[in-house]
Amino acid sequence: MEHLPLNESCNLLGLKLYLLSGLQKGVQLQKLSMRKIAITIALIVGSGIINGSAQPMQVKSGSKKIALTFDACMTRGMLERLEKGLDKSLYDPSIIEYLHHERIAATLFISGLWAEKYSSAVKDFASDTLFEIGNHSYGHKGFVPNCYSLPNLPNNDKRNDILKTQEVLTNLSGRKPRLFRFPGGCYSPSDLLLVKNMGLKVVGWTFPSGDAFNYDSKAVIQYVLSNAKSDAIIVFHLSGGRYAPRTAEIIKAIIPLLRKQGYEFSRVSDLPRYK
Ligand SMILES: [Zn+2]
Repeated sequence: MEHLPLNESCNLLGLKLYLLSGLQKGVQLQKLSMRKIAITIALIVGSGIINGSAQPMQVKSGSKKIALTFDACMTRGMLERLEKGLDKSLYDPSIIEYLHHERIAATLFISGLWAEKYSSAVKDFASDTLFEIGNHSYGHKGFVPNCYSLPNLPNNDKRNDILKTQEVLTNLSGRKPRLFRFPGGCYSPSDLLLVKNMGLKVVGWTFPSGDAFNYDSKAVIQYVLSNAKSDAIIVFHLSGGRYAPRTAEIIKAIIPLLRKQGYEFSRVSDLPRYK
């Protein structure tokens, strides 16, 4: 992936987020047609950058695994809204409760600000062997300029941002995260190198579920079901509230249906290409 020109890799990954995960911008996904999204995904898949790692996607015969990932994103602006009472919560615990009850493994990408705000939840995640915790930056800033409406993270601050998040998550979980997901999916080749040199593996996604800002749970369920494939990494959000209003409902509907299709669920680091 680091061989791709910056604009191509960033725009495609970012476009996915814009369409399906616009946490900062308030994208009203329900207003976007699923056909446009499908075209976008087709472009992304065709581009060969679908898994967010340098390795090609591998489909293992004889096993059908899906890695569900849940992002816990928080910018300073989101934290301020929360503290002013404009948002009630940026965490929907019913998602995790369901995963725990159903014994569904998952990977949780947590930003440092979120971890500090919901520290007891992070400790709970860490005590459950079903879950692994990945680094999602500290304040969810864009690693390149114009990453939608995300504030920009200056080059000189990147290393410290990642390290600070590692420290917060390690202190809470007792384990040093080894996976990293860029906020907004935006990065430059030098950002990729930085993260790799810090001993972290960059995790993208095969496709985002479309749960962000989306009240049309049926459309999301249908979309995920029709795009599910073995070794896929799918993005959801832990926020609940207006950011991910139907995620819990969607998860509760999708998991039994995927199970019927023979899928099992694994953490990202259990996928062959991340081992
Ligand atoms: Zn995020």
